[in-house]
Amino acid sequence: MTQQRIYLSSPHMSGLEQQFVQEAFDTNWIAPLGPHVDAFEHEFAQRVGIKHAAALSSGTAALHLALILAGVGTGDEVLVSTLTFSASVNPIAYLGGRPVFIDSERTSWNMDPALLAETMERKARQGKLPKAVIPVHLYGQSADMTPILEICSRYEIPVIEDAAEALGATYKGRAPGTLGKAGIFSFNGNKIITTSGGGMLVSDDGDFIIQARKLATQSRDPAPHYQHSEIGYNYRLSNVLAGIGRGQLQVLEERVQARRRNFEFYQDTLGDLPGIAFMPEAPWGRHTRWLTVITVDPSQFGADRETIRLALEAENIEARPVWKPMHLQPVFHECEAVGGSVAEDLFEQGLCLPSGSNLSEGDLARVVGVVRSLRR
Ligand SMILES: *Cc1c(COP(=O)(O)O)cnc(C)c1O
Repeated sequence: MTQQRIYLSSPHMSGLEQQFVQEAFDTNWIAPLGPHVDAFEHEFAQRVGIKHAAALSSGTAALHLALILAGVGTGDEVLVSTLTFSASVNPIAYLGGRPVFIDSERTSWNMDPALLAETMERKARQGKLPKAVIPVHLYGQSADMTPILEICSRYEIPVIEDAAEALGATYKGRAPGTLGKAGIFSFNGNKIITTSGGGMLVSDDGDFIIQARKLATQSRDPAPHYQHSEIGYNYRLSNVLAGIGRGQLQVLEERVQARRRNFEFYQDTLGDLPGIAFMPEAPWGRHTRWLTVITVDPSQFGADRETIRLALEAENIEARPVWKPMHLQPVFHECEAVGGSVAEDLFEQGLCLPSGSNLSEGDLARVVGVVRSLRR
C-alpha cells in the first residue's frame, strides 16, 4: 500500500479565510474589486512596510505591469537573475524586450552584485543601458540589495524586485520587495501564503500604483462611457480571493516559523551526512525557508540529486531540482548571459525538499529516512 503523498509545498489554510469569503458572498461582492481587495492591499502594504499595493491576478501579471511602467519596449534589455522560475523572465518577452541573464553568488544564491556592476559598466560604455533590473529573491531569501541598488541608482535604472518567493523574509530589517522602485509578490498555490492564484505589486510611488491599477482594469479612462486611450489588461484580483488572502496574511508569521522549523529538522537529521549541504542563510537577513534546499555532492554522498529525487518519488514524496537556469532554457538560448557556472552548479546539485508549513514530524521523518537510506 502506498503511503499518502507528501507534496513539496501545499496550501495551508488557517480557517480564518472562510469568514472573509462568506462575507464576500453575504454582501454579493463577487467581482474583481470590492472591500476585501481594498483591505487586502492596505493590510499587505502595512505588513511589508510600503505605502501602496495593487492586488492582481498573479505575480506574473504584477511583473508585466511593472515592466510596462518602467517603459520596457521592443529591443530593450532587462538584466535579470538567471537562477529563477521562468515567470521572472516571460513578461520581458511579452514586451519584446531582451533578457540579459546574470549569474548567482554563493552567499544567498541570488544575483551577483559584482557581475551586475561589471555588466552595467560595460553596457554604459556601449551606450546601451538596460531599461530595468530584476533581482529575484530565491526560495525565501533576499538578494544583497544594498550594492544592487547602489549600482542601479548610479545609472538611474529602476529596480523591480521579484519577491514572489520571499514574503516574510528580511533584508537588514526590511522586507525584500520594498527596496527598489517596485516589487512583486505571488499568492500561487505553492507559495508561503496563497489565494489559490494571485499577486501583489507594491511601490512607495503612489502614481505608479494608480497607473498599474488602471492598466489592470482595461485602461479605462475616467469617463462614464467606456473610453480607452491605451491598451489595457484584465489583471485585478477577485474580491473572493482577496478574502482568502486577508485570512492567510494573518498567519504569515506562523507560516514562516513552521517552515524554518522544517529546515531545522532537516538540518538536525541530515546535516551529518557527507556531501549534503544546505542553502546558506546570508548574514543580511532572515531566510523564511519557503523551501528547504540541499545540495548533493555525489562523489561524497554516493548518490546524486536525481537518484535522491527518484527514490523519494518512489515513496510518493515530491521533491524538485533547483530551478533550471534561464540561460540553459531552450526558449531563451539566444539571449545574452553573464557568467552562469554558479547557477549551473546549483541546478546540478540542488534539490528542494518537501517544505510545507502543514507537514508533520512524521512526514519529515519519512523524507529523511529515504535520503539517509541512500548514503554510501
Ligand atoms: C511563483 C513565482 C512567480 C510568479 O508568480 P505567479 O503568481 O505564479 O504568476 C514569479 N517569480 C518567481 C521567482 C516565482 O517563484
